[in-house]
Amino acid sequence: MHLRKRILVTGGAGFLGSTLCEQLLAAGHDILCVDNFFTGTKDNIAHLLDSPHFELLRHDVTFPLYVEVDEIYNFACPASPIHYQFDPVQTTKTSVHGAINMLGLCKRLKAKILQASTSEIYGDPTVHPQPEGYWGNVNPIGLRSCYDEGKRCAETLFFGYHQQHRLRIKVARIFNTYGPRMHVNDGRAVSNFIVQALKGEPITLYGDGGQTRSFCYVDDMVQGLVSLMNTADELTGPVNLGSPSELKISELAEKVISLTGSKSKTVYKPLPSDDPRQRQPDIALARELLGWEPATPLAQGLSNTIAYFEEVLRRQSRHDAGA
Ligand code: NAD
Ligand code: UDP
Repeated sequence: MHLRKRILVTGGAGFLGSTLCEQLLAAGHDILCVDNFFTGTKDNIAHLLDSPHFELLRHDVTFPLYVEVDEIYNFACPASPIHYQFDPVQTTKTSVHGAINMLGLCKRLKAKILQASTSEIYGDPTVHPQPEGYWGNVNPIGLRSCYDEGKRCAETLFFGYHQQHRLRIKVARIFNTYGPRMHVNDGRAVSNFIVQALKGEPITLYGDGGQTRSFCYVDDMVQGLVSLMNTADELTGPVNLGSPSELKISELAEKVISLTGSKSKTVYKPLPSDDPRQRQPDIALARELLGWEPATPLAQGLSNTIAYFEEVLRRQSRHDAGA
């Protein structure tokens, strides 16, 4: 028998949160989407608003929330460096106070809660690829610290509530994820390169472009997150979720140029401070416990994302022409 659950998604109007809301709704659950629209948009969830099983609440998770639900996906937090560095204190508060508020809510409800943690908790890693047992190499007072340390403290709080109050927790360490509904101007490699290529502008490579990342397509990521939430209560994680296919950022730029057929050329810009040199998840645990690994080839995922950004840019130019 299908069990309809009441599921709260914080940050539900963002890139990952909106895809999660869409898929949980399609699976037959009641969704409460909570967002303060700092980086998320109503456009991301506009197609869900007519459903009687979808509810939207404007709320900042740094303040307490009183609702009744069975499960919580805690995704509220700006994820791109330019957004989380815009107001570093608010970023840390969102992770720390947000976690305390959502864990407190969970404690009252005896609900289950999944935290969107991040590969950033490994910092600029000295172990490669990164297994969950690696403690990381994080600068506590650098440009990325508000995000990295906020997320590390959130993990500490999750495990504190689990040990002290027997809360049912799941911690997913999400590695770089891309796909439709990324922000057009969030400054990330995938969105920047695609938008630059489509506009025929120079592709900005930071540093020598030799730093590496491993990019996971959003649908694969959401599937992994839902599988983790549905595991037995003993499984708390942390579990790495991401693509093990690592590539240089310069190779990503070449792929985007080739898939868009763009005439854009690459230009070199200074490397931001504390930018990790390399990143690749060890996903042995996710494979073993969830039977999960990403299925979407990079070329396919990038093509879907390019189609999305083409539509966004078309809409923008229609809007500008009408204005
Ligand atoms: P996003 O910026 O698109 O989404 C974050 C959402 O949280 C937005 O809708 C934003 O408005 C909302 N939000 C921010 N502060 C809030 C607050 N105080 N109260 C309520 N809502 C708030 O980012 P995303 O890429 O969808 O990331 C979602 C989650 O996944 C984040 O927690 C992020 O740290 C984590 N994550 C993402 C990636 C990735 O590659 N995208 C990687 C690792 C971890
Ligand atoms: N990057 C780049 N050009 C850009 C945007 C990003 O070379 O226009 C680099 C960035 O310095 C980093 C990598 O691409 O080394 C991935 O950046 P992103 O912001 O996408 O993710 P994160 O650094 O958070 O992993």
